[in-house]
Parts: sequence; C-alpha cells; structure tokens
Amino acid sequence: MERETEHEAATESAPSRLPGATGPLSFATVPTGAAIDLQRALGNARTARVLRRPDGGRVSLAVATGRLHAAREEVRRRAPPQRRYRLPTPSELKSLATGGLIPEATVEEAIRTALRRMDADWELRTSADDVMKTLFPKPGVFDESAWSTVLGTSQRTVYQSVADAEAKLRPGDLAKLKDVAQEAADTIDKCMADDAGLQAVFGKQAKTAKGRYAKAKAALLKAIADSDNAIDTDYNRDDPQVGLGGWANFASQHIHLTGNVAEVKDRDEAIITLIHESAHLSHNDVDDRGYYGSDGFEAMSEPDKVGNAAHYEELPRRLLGKSRYATATFTPGQTAGGKAVTFEDHVRRDASEYLRKAWDRAVDVHGFVRGTARDILGGAKVFDARKPKLLEISKVEHLTIHAQQPQPSTVTVLDAVLSEGVARGTARIMRLGPKQPMPTSTDRAAAVTQLIDSAIADYGALLGNRAEERKLMDWLVAGYRTGF
Ligand SMILES: [Zn+2]
Repeated sequence: MERETEHEAATESAPSRLPGATGPLSFATVPTGAAIDLQRALGNARTARVLRRPDGGRVSLAVATGRLHAAREEVRRRAPPQRRYRLPTPSELKSLATGGLIPEATVEEAIRTALRRMDADWELRTSADDVMKTLFPKPGVFDESAWSTVLGTSQRTVYQSVADAEAKLRPGDLAKLKDVAQEAADTIDKCMADDAGLQAVFGKQAKTAKGRYAKAKAALLKAIADSDNAIDTDYNRDDPQVGLGGWANFASQHIHLTGNVAEVKDRDEAIITLIHESAHLSHNDVDDRGYYGSDGFEAMSEPDKVGNAAHYEELPRRLLGKSRYATATFTPGQTAGGKAVTFEDHVRRDASEYLRKAWDRAVDVHGFVRGTARDILGGAKVFDARKPKLLEISKVEHLTIHAQQPQPSTVTVLDAVLSEGVARGTARIMRLGPKQPMPTSTDRAAAVTQLIDSAIADYGALLGNRAEERKLMDWLVAGYRTGF
C-alpha cells in the first residue's frame, strides 16, 4: 500500500485544488449522499437546479427523497450503460429518511460528525452546530435551501467521473501505462547494476534486495501483460478521499493504482509508484514498514529496509532526481545528517508507524464496509455472515449499523460515507504526526502516546470525543493486516 504522494498531500491546504473537493459533502446525510453523487454525475449547476424547490425552502424528508429519486433516474437515463453508481436504491433511501430504520438521533449525530469533518477539511461557513440547526429546523424536516448553502461551498468540482472505484484500465491509459512500466523495468535494471548504490541503501542485504528487484520487474511486466485481471484503478477518484496512493497484494499478484497513476499524470511519479507496488509482488516479506520520507526512514535496520517497499524507491528516485536524502549511504541507527538516532527520533518513528498502521487499517475497513454496501445493493445475502464484524466496526467507528431498528439488517450509504470519513481522518492525522512538538516525557512509550494524542487532537474531527478517538485508533492498529 502506498499513501498519496506528498505532491497531492501538499494541495490539501488549498481546498479549491483538493482532488476530491466535493467529496466531504457526501458525508452529510443520506439524501445528501445522493445529492453528492448527483453532483458528480451532473455537475453543480444541474444538481442545484434538480434540487431547487418552488415552495420557499422547507420540504419534508419524504418529498426531498422523492425528488432525489427522480433526479437519480435522470442521471441513469443520461449515462452510458456501462457506468454504475454508488447511490442508495430508492427503497433504501426512503427507508433511511422516513422509515425509522435508524433512530433520528443517531442519524443527526452521524451528520453532525460528518459536518465536523467537513469543517476540518475546508472551512464551513458556520460551525457544525449552526449548520445542524439550519439543516434540521425541527424533527423530521430538513431545509433544502440551507443545504444548498452548504453545497455552495464547493463550486469547483473536480469529481467528474462516476465510473466504478475499482475499474479496468481504459485502452488509452493502458497503452501509456505499458510504456511507463517498461521504463520502470529499465530503471530497475539500472538499480540492479548499481552495486555501490544497493550497498549504500541496503547494506548487508544488498544481494537480497537485488534479487527482489529482479522478481519485482518480472512481476510488474507479468501484471501489465495481464492487466485486465491483475491491475485495476480508481477512475471514481475515491482514493484521494482516503489518502490512498495505491496498493499491491503478493498472494494475488494484484496491483491497484490511483486514477492519477493510471492516467500517467506525472511520469516520474508513475514510475516510482509502479516500482513501489511491484516490490510488494517480489516477496511476501516486502511490506510497508515506513513510507518514503517518514520519520527515521534512513536510519532503519537492514532487515527492515529489505522488507520495506519504500526503500526500493530510493535508487530509482536518485536516477530520476527525486531523492530526498542528501546522504549517499543509509546507516542503521544514523540520521541522514550522520548523527546517531536520538530519543526524539525513536519516539517520532514509533508514532509514525502507529499512525500509518491506523490509517492502513481504516482504509481496509472502509473497503469492507463499502464493498458490503455494494454487495447488498447487488442482491447478495452477505449481511448475516459479516454481521459480527460489521457491528464491531459500527460501534467503534460510530457508524449507524448497530443502531438499526428493530435489529441491524443492512449497510447503508450513510455507513459507507462515515467509514470513508474515518479513513480520511486517519490520513489527515498521519500527516499531522511529524508536525507535532516533541512531548516532554522522558519515557519512550509515554512520549509516543502523547505525540499520538497530540496529532489526534490537532485534527480534532475524527469522532469528536478524544477518549473515543484514541480507542478507535488503538482498535485500528490492533487490527492492522488481520483481514475480516
Ligand atoms: Zn506499500
């Protein structure tokens, strides 16, 4: 797995350029979940027209639901037949809004959480509580004109495509990607020929690293040759929502690429990503143990480095002029500046790994929740078998599954957007980690815990309750790579 590139991360502070700038809207409510999908499909102006009502602004949820249903049908009529939508079914939408499946207070609390996350992402015009009062002036009624005010904060939509989040490569992209993959393979050849470079990065593990480079290259070319089965991408641009830069699985020899990489928006970035992901395909031991540039990256032990996909980026980055390390040689226990690793370096590295694992797991949990919602919409009877796990997730991530009446029976789009929000929040917290001041504690474990708490508080919108947030983060880390 790889996080989004820093290039993309850096744009996060500029909301107008955020790849998924319209995404947070999908958090807000179930009818709004539909509204955001409409927005993606039709564009802002058309969505505003679809949602505009002639009755002064206040309609019941049932009326709004009916309008969204009609609008959704319009999207369906206008779209190419192969396209699919992550919209709730009309019956699901209706039952959520009016049918009492989820207690009203739970729905409102979920929306409040989502609004706080929106506020943390890009400034809301008022506080979350004010928006709540405006959106829900009284029980069972929501104010559409107030809603369009919130929609109006996101005029510059970038979320144009409604293609599926796990799609085969388009022929034009595949041709470009084949070309880039060949260049990645040639780059790997150069790295393998660079014995001094291999020694400088991997030390005593240089020979093992060289062997893995060879396997990575073979696996990459094999995957490209069988791209319909071995590679998929995210034309829906869901990945930027959760900070994902791609992933690869050794057992299945499968690679998932972000839309930007699949479309080769940046050639060097695509080469580096392909090498990172194909390193995962070289050996079961090549995992993620610290992303490129993370705290303590250059000081890691040799067994850790040879088992860390991001370390296979360093030699290619040097060839491309994209290395961040001034030093030519990585020495275990030494920083790039040549100094011995300090207490602070250890604390920062420990916290960095904790935050990375929490995010990685949150992305996997979201994939499980979203996939289950999709399976159920497709008619698959999967809920009962997955129920224990779903209830566990729902409680700790503050979704709404466990609150369903008379008993939990399904996964709604509201849960999918809430779990997306947790994954997105953990991505934000991971990036805030290195920016936290060093805690004062002289005990390593205590200092790590303080640093983690500080990053969680800095984001401030994961769940809205610090103790619950830390419990959630610990739960995510404990579940890292445990499957479902
Ligand atoms: Zn990875």
